[in-house]
Amino acid sequence: MSSDDIDTLPIKRGPAELADIKAEFRKRQWRRLLVLVPMVLLVVVGIGGAAPWVLYPVAAISIVASVFALFNWRCPACENLFGKQNVRGKCPHCGVELE
Ligand SMILES: [Zn+2]
Repeated sequence: MSSDDIDTLPIKRGPAELADIKAEFRKRQWRRLLVLVPMVLLVVVGIGGAAPWVLYPVAAISIVASVFALFNWRCPACENLFGKQNVRGKCPHCGVELE
C-alpha cells in the first residue's frame, strides 16, 4: 500500500453496500423534490391572496416539510448534512460515490 492509496480510500466498502448507498441517495433526492411541492404551493396561494383557512394549513405543511428536509438531505453513508448543496456524484464529506 503506497501513500497515494491512503488519500483515495477513506473507507473500504463492498459492492452491495455501495449499491445500497446509491439506492438510498436516489430515494432521498426524490423526497427532497417532494418537499418543494408544499413550498411552491405556499408561494402560489400566498401571491394569489388565498383565505387564511387555505394559507395557514399550507404554511404549516411547508414548515413540517422544511424540518423533514433537514433530516432527509444527508449522506446515506456518513449521515453528514448536505444543507443547501446540490450534491452530484460524490459525498463532499466522506467521498463515497452516490450516483
Ligand atoms: Zn458522506
